[in-house]
Amino acid sequence: MKKIKVRFAPSPTGPLHIGGARSALFNYLFAAHQGGEFVVRIEDTDLERSRREYEEEILESLQWLGIQWTEGIEKGGENGPYRQTERLEIYQQYIQKLIEQGDAYYCFCTQEELEHERLQQLQSGQMQRYSGKCCGLSDEEVRQRLGSGLRPSVRFRVPAHQIYVVNDLVRGSVTFESDNSGDFIILKSDGIPVYNFAVVIDDVMMGITHVIRAEEHLSNTPRQLMLYDALNFTRPEFAHISLILGSDRQKMSKRHGATSLVQYRQMGYLPEALFNFLALLGWSPEGEQEILSREELIQAFTLERVAKSPAVFDMDKLNWMNQQYLKQKSVSELAELLRPYLAASEWSEMYSQLDQERYCLMVQAVRDHLVCLADINSQAGLFFREVEWDEEARQALSSELAQTVLSAVHSDLAEFSHPEEVKTFIKGTIKKLNLKAKDVYMPLRSALTGCTHGPELPYLILVLGRDECLRRIERAINTFG
Ligand code: GLU
Repeated sequence: MKKIKVRFAPSPTGPLHIGGARSALFNYLFAAHQGGEFVVRIEDTDLERSRREYEEEILESLQWLGIQWTEGIEKGGENGPYRQTERLEIYQQYIQKLIEQGDAYYCFCTQEELEHERLQQLQSGQMQRYSGKCCGLSDEEVRQRLGSGLRPSVRFRVPAHQIYVVNDLVRGSVTFESDNSGDFIILKSDGIPVYNFAVVIDDVMMGITHVIRAEEHLSNTPRQLMLYDALNFTRPEFAHISLILGSDRQKMSKRHGATSLVQYRQMGYLPEALFNFLALLGWSPEGEQEILSREELIQAFTLERVAKSPAVFDMDKLNWMNQQYLKQKSVSELAELLRPYLAASEWSEMYSQLDQERYCLMVQAVRDHLVCLADINSQAGLFFREVEWDEEARQALSSELAQTVLSAVHSDLAEFSHPEEVKTFIKGTIKKLNLKAKDVYMPLRSALTGCTHGPELPYLILVLGRDECLRRIERAINTFG
């Protein structure tokens, strides 16, 4: 059997979108599952919108996510170059071939003429498509016009009355009639091919066996099939994966929040979590397990289990998943991951004064409260900013009992060096005052943080140090006593 070969072919017209990342991932998983190859190439024929910065950003996002390719841009291989604007000569050969065969022809229609034609069709309620005005030009006429310096586009001659069937591996068989399509441009007058043409040449030249891509390209597929047939190329298999919808079941867009991978990276979602999450957007393994490692995903991934129906982007699930992956990190790993966030935050100066030990204690104190890494900014505020008591904290502090607790802690608090010592101290206080644990924890936490919920107290007390704890307790005593 022929070796599996797939590709991801982003257009560098913006950052890598969640949908694009999911397509890349499905290709990666499919190839890895079968021991196949995976090409990444750049589809930059839209000269106006393509930017090198986006290309770099897309590739960086893929690498960050842990998607590696075996051939292509930045990697090399025997089917390069891997940027379409560097392949113009290759496309030219096939354009010429199609013209010689009579399957394509020069079109000299101007933008104005085409626009006029379009308006007329619109007014008379006809289907909008190219009228075929240039399809019957004689060789002589073509020569003359070319000689006079006109720069034509090239159109593909769509075969009449043909039925094209895409046997899609996800969607089943989908039928298109050629009569619904007018002769379409394959090479623009500036010598740049259009997507539908270039994609076919590239997929064939690069030996792609399976085209796995977003559903929005299904409607392009019949044009591509026409080109496969005209050039006598073997068609690859196609698999069009469903749209991603927001929680309101509308197509995922900026309205739903972050849509690009970079944004999730900046917020501090872990690549492992996104990898896992994206894999489950429109695909599911057998069984109920949702946290799956890269290896488990590769092992389990098949196109048969890709869903036909749209996938819904569930932010709560991503948050939950990210927390699961954060939990797997050791304190020191997490501490390193959090450094850039703190360094860029309003606490950067205070944070830089913490030694490694205290810093790790701080991370330990808040780790269970982080959904994503950027949450460290609000959590760190508990350590660094002047305490502001919220309503519940004010209540917790406004009793005589609270005052008793705070005074007792104030007079006994020592300089501790280990969380266990702090725990023993708090236990001792509970016992000494003969109270319930909650009656000690609540006022103490409220005095130290201004909130009734939050980081683990023993760690918090250690990070703040004795002096700062005493200061915060005094302030609470003076304010509420
Ligand atoms: N360049 C296309 C895109 O970014 C991909 C087309 C394809 O996979 O065939 O949507």
